[in-house]
Amino acid sequence: MRQTRGAPVPIALLVDDPCPLVHVFKEHWVHVHRRAPATRDGRPLLDTVPNSFLDRFCDVVDARGIAGKFSIVPVPAGKGDVVRGIDGYDPALTQQWLETARRRLSRRFDFCPEGLTHDLAVDLPTGTLLPVGENEWSQTQDRTTLTPYLTRALELLRRAGFDCTGITSPWVFGIAVEPEYQAAIIAAQRTVYRRDVSWYFLHMRHNAPGTRPWVAVAEGPVRLVAIASTVKDVWWETIDSPRTDATWIRAVADQLLTADGRDGAIRRVLDAGGWPVLLTHWQSLFSNGLETGLRVLDEVGRRVEHTLGDEVTWSTCTEVMQRTLVEAGTPA
Ligand SMILES: [Zn+2]
Repeated sequence: MRQTRGAPVPIALLVDDPCPLVHVFKEHWVHVHRRAPATRDGRPLLDTVPNSFLDRFCDVVDARGIAGKFSIVPVPAGKGDVVRGIDGYDPALTQQWLETARRRLSRRFDFCPEGLTHDLAVDLPTGTLLPVGENEWSQTQDRTTLTPYLTRALELLRRAGFDCTGITSPWVFGIAVEPEYQAAIIAAQRTVYRRDVSWYFLHMRHNAPGTRPWVAVAEGPVRLVAIASTVKDVWWETIDSPRTDATWIRAVADQLLTADGRDGAIRRVLDAGGWPVLLTHWQSLFSNGLETGLRVLDEVGRRVEHTLGDEVTWSTCTEVMQRTLVEAGTPA
């Protein structure tokens, strides 16, 4: 009997925490962790991520054919927002960043909000920041408060010109009240985009490589797919290292996929029957200005292309969602 190869397995890159100008990770230290913002080796964390970094990210994902989702924090650290601009900067810089994201990423990345501030929670009626982070705040809420919160996030990005097909959870937003959170996602997508079928990213299953996305809700016309990450953010190490040499870059890339394609977290997920869903963060690729993480991404993209061939296919979250629904027998 002839051996037939299965369809290529989806592989996706989840980019958490991007936003115009603000280095969200640096702000966490100030407001949420209440410590001086510095790398582990003592370099101060930079205040801003320049727009040119987004261009260089787009160059890499274009060259390697990488796909997935790209978060946009709509009110980053409470410092302005994606509609009126970031505090302290010419609003044209925010518009330029958003225009680049729309123009260069729309084809192969889904967009989604990730909290409102990815920092302190917002009191919606007054717009002021509460003295508690969004993650902590979310865990005691229900659909009556989570729905307007997510609606505000989606609405800001809709007004900024983005079609958000899903939701990313800052930290583990809503995990303690997940059924309420799911109901809020469904309601907010319906309100803002008239959308019944969407996805969300909350769960990290880095120790369960056989994990595939699953259908979290299927009721009437509504479908909500949970896309969990299966490969941890090893790029994060580049924030805390001053090294930029090729040996270091190869060593970080090896943790994801070795140069011969036979080892690394991506290989282990494939061997376990899972789908490689790679988690990374804007700050992990930015590497506090050294951009070492972005070079690791370029190298991993090259290795995926050259060693995995048609075993995998880079996929957007929408593509991952649709295939999950079909394989579960619950197509939209
Ligand atoms: Zn995040």
